[in-house]
Amino acid sequence: MRERIAIVGAGAAGLGAAWALSRHPDRFDFEVYETAATVGGNARTADFPQRDGGTVPADIAVTAFIPSVYHNHVELMSLLGIEAVGTRFSYAVHYGDDVYAHDLDTPLRRRLAGDIAAFRRLLRTVGRCNALNKRPSWSTTVLNPFNYVTMRRALDLWGISQEFRYKVLKPLFVNFVLTSGVFAMPASVFVRYMDFFDIEHSTPMITWQGGTRAVHARLIEGFADRIHVGRPVTGLFRGPDGVRVRDADGVTERFDQAILACNANHALALLQPPGAMERRVLGAVRYESDLHRDAVVHTDASLLPDDHLHVSGTRSTFVRHFGDRPDNYEITYIMHNQQPWGDGAVSPCLVTYNARRQPDPAKVISRHRFQHVVHDLRHTLVLHALVPLLQGRRRTWYCGAHTTFNSQEHAFLSGLAVARQLGADYPFTANKEATRWFNFYGRMCLGMRFRTAR
Ligand SMILES: Cc1cc2nc3c(=O)[nH]c(=O)nc-3n(C[C@H](O)[C@H](O)[C@H](O)COP(=O)(O)OP(=O)(O)OC[C@H]3O[C@@H](n4cnc5c(N)ncnc54)[C@H](O)[C@@H]3O)c2cc1C
Repeated sequence: MRERIAIVGAGAAGLGAAWALSRHPDRFDFEVYETAATVGGNARTADFPQRDGGTVPADIAVTAFIPSVYHNHVELMSLLGIEAVGTRFSYAVHYGDDVYAHDLDTPLRRRLAGDIAAFRRLLRTVGRCNALNKRPSWSTTVLNPFNYVTMRRALDLWGISQEFRYKVLKPLFVNFVLTSGVFAMPASVFVRYMDFFDIEHSTPMITWQGGTRAVHARLIEGFADRIHVGRPVTGLFRGPDGVRVRDADGVTERFDQAILACNANHALALLQPPGAMERRVLGAVRYESDLHRDAVVHTDASLLPDDHLHVSGTRSTFVRHFGDRPDNYEITYIMHNQQPWGDGAVSPCLVTYNARRQPDPAKVISRHRFQHVVHDLRHTLVLHALVPLLQGRRRTWYCGAHTTFNSQEHAFLSGLAVARQLGADYPFTANKEATRWFNFYGRMCLGMRFRTAR
C-alpha cells in the first residue's frame, strides 16, 4: 500500500522532498500544493521584453550559487544537465554624497581605509576559528566561539565604525547574501560568507544557464502532474486516521503524512489547531522583509544613476540610501550583467527593491514580495535545536530555509532529508562530500534519529 503524502509549498524544499519521493513510485503517492502560479518559491524567473519582440529570461531574486558549498545542488544540476555559467558580481553604493564601489577609488574608500584594515583583521581571526565549521562535524562545530557572538558584537570588538557598517558592509550583504538582520547573525556565519565576497573587489560567481526556471522545469519533469499551482492550503487537520488538507476552495483530501515546506509563519497559520510546542517553535522564527520587500521587475533604466560609475553597463547591483534609517536602501539588481546571456539584451533587465520613484508603468513587467528568515543567535542556537522535536509529531514534517539555512542548497537539502526520513533514498551517495553534508544538515533538521545516508 503506497503512503499518501501532502507537500505544502513548491520552493526548493518542497520540490526537493517531492523529487526524492517521486523516485519511489511504488511506495509513495504525493500531491504538492502551491499558492503561487509557478513553482520555485523565491526562485522566480521573468521574461524581459526586448525591442525586437522577443524576450530574455532572467532571475529576479535567487540568482547565483557557490559550487564549493552547494554540493547537492551541483550534483542535481549535473544530473539534470543544467550548465553552470560564470559571472561577476560587483556593486556600487550612493549614500548621500558618498560613493562606494568595487574596484573604485573614492574619497569615502580613502576615509574608511582604517575600517577596511580592521575588518580584514576581524576576518582573519574569525576565519581561523571557522576552520572548525568547515567540516561536516558537530563535535568540531560547537567549539567555535564565534558561533555564540553576534556580528554586531564582533564589529564592536574590532572598533569598526557605523559608517563602514552601513555604507559598505550592509549594502554588500543585501546584494550578495540577500538576507535581513545581518548584524544579528553569528559572527561565524557572517564571516563564512566573506570567504566568497570581497569588500573591495568584484567577485566571481556562478549562475544557472537559463535561470532557475530551467532547473525547475527539468526537476519536475517526472511528476509535474502531481503539483497543483495556484492552490493554496488553508487548513491542516490532524487525527488518528491521517491528515486532512483543505484548500482555498474548501476541497479536503486525506493523506497519511504532511510535509510543510513553507515558511514557519505560513505553516503555523495552517495547523488546526497547532500544538503548544508548534506554536512556540514556529512562532519564534523571525522573518524580516525590509530589505527585499517590494520588488518591481522592469526595464526603466532611468532608476539608475547616469554618471561616471556606468552602473548599467558594468555593475551587477546598485544601492541607493534614502530616508532616516541608516539602512533604508533602494536596491536595483542589474540582471543583464548578473546573468551573462542577458548582456546582449536591447532593453535593460532590472529588478528594484523598495523603489523610491516608481518606474514608468509602461516598463513594468511584474511586482513581487519576499520575506527572509532571520538567522540570529536565537535561531541558530535555540530554534535549530528545537525544530527536530516537532518532526513527525502528529504526522507532520517540516523543511525549508528555517530548518537549516537561507539558501537554495540548504532548503533543497532539508526537503531531501525529510523525504529520507520517510523512507526515500538519498540520491547522491556517490559523492562522499555531498553525502557528509547531507547527513550533517539532515541531523540539524531532524535531530539525532535522522536516518543518515551511506
Ligand atoms: C530576494 C531573495 C534572493 C535570494 N537569492 C538567493 C541566491 O541568489 N542564492 C541562494 O542560494 N539563495 C537565495 N535566496 C534564499 C533562497 O531563496 C531561500 O533560502 C529558498 O528559496 C528557501 O526555499 P524554501 O523552499 O524554504 O521556501 P520558499 O522558496 O519561500 O518556498 C515556499 C513555498 O511555499 C508556498 N506556500 C506558502 N504557504 C502556502 C500554503 N498555505 N499553501 C501552498 N503553498 C504555500 C509559497 O508560495 C512558496 O512557493 C534568496 C532569497 C530571497 C528572498
